[in-house]
Amino acid sequence: MTKPDGVWATPVLHADLDAFYASVEVIKDPALRGKPVIVGGTSSRGVVTSASYEARRAGVTSAMPTSRARRLCPHGIYLPPDFDAYGRYSRQVREVFDSFSPVVEPLSLDEAFLDLRGATRLWSGPEALGEALRAAVRRETGLVVSVGLAPNKFLAKLASRHAKPDGLVVVAPDGPGGIEAFLHPLPASDIWGVGDRTAELLDRLGLRTIGDVAAVPAATLQRALGNLGTQLAKLAAGVDSRPVVGDPPRKSVGAEETFERDLVAEAEIAQQPQHQPQGAPSRRVGVAVGCMARLRADQPRGPAAVVGGRGRAGRDPAPFW
Ligand SMILES: [Mg+2]
Repeated sequence: MTKPDGVWATPVLHADLDAFYASVEVIKDPALRGKPVIVGGTSSRGVVTSASYEARRAGVTSAMPTSRARRLCPHGIYLPPDFDAYGRYSRQVREVFDSFSPVVEPLSLDEAFLDLRGATRLWSGPEALGEALRAAVRRETGLVVSVGLAPNKFLAKLASRHAKPDGLVVVAPDGPGGIEAFLHPLPASDIWGVGDRTAELLDRLGLRTIGDVAAVPAATLQRALGNLGTQLAKLAAGVDSRPVVGDPPRKSVGAEETFERDLVAEAEIAQQPQHQPQGAPSRRVGVAVGCMARLRADQPRGPAAVVGGRGRAGRDPAPFW
């Protein structure tokens, strides 16, 4: 999968802000730094939407009833969500992402995939690129983002989860520390699309880790699980051909999408033909980072727009490197 010059064929970066809502609250009021901050519904039926790492150490997690959080963390600071502020910070973070890639797919206010074809050769390697993005987000917004870099979406998202908090995990296409070393020890329930029911079924079949699933012939999985079996066989082998679906830069993402949009919807969207990536990958190669912020993912990318790095006049993007 690695090209001869060492550039990955399809580098995908998944960026996920750490404790986003709670972190924005700390930036708004620095006196909250180091304290257990819990954002969520404050009524008796409210639910936690974000908790600082200090609150997590007390056992508070997202989606937990606020009443339970108050019992676990009685000295926590409980705040109602301020979606205007989260939207503002999300747009700032998005501008940083746009400066690294013309193809950014937001999943929610605090998460996005970046298609990095064309960007990796501008850096000394994926680690340098991932750390540069993390540093840029921190410098421009004060927020901490964890990053996973891998050859596809499934692996990149898993990698960013393992990078938390405040980290970077690179899953190389091959070699030591590559896909199998990362993927196979993980529980089978970490495979995208495996819900509680499927996890239970896999467990009954004795398939506990992703490596266990990968060891079963695809035809056997298909017989046992139908189409899902075929999908599991691919993902367990680290194969995921869903493209990063670019969304025009600087478009705000509604707060409600945080709750409504899920990975299933994302997969459905990715499979629609009109969302296939425009332009052959080779046309993206050579896009300079300084030019990227000005490219809109939904516009045809003619060579004139991408060659030369710094092109048209306009706001000069901050030098992130
Ligand atoms: Mg997050």
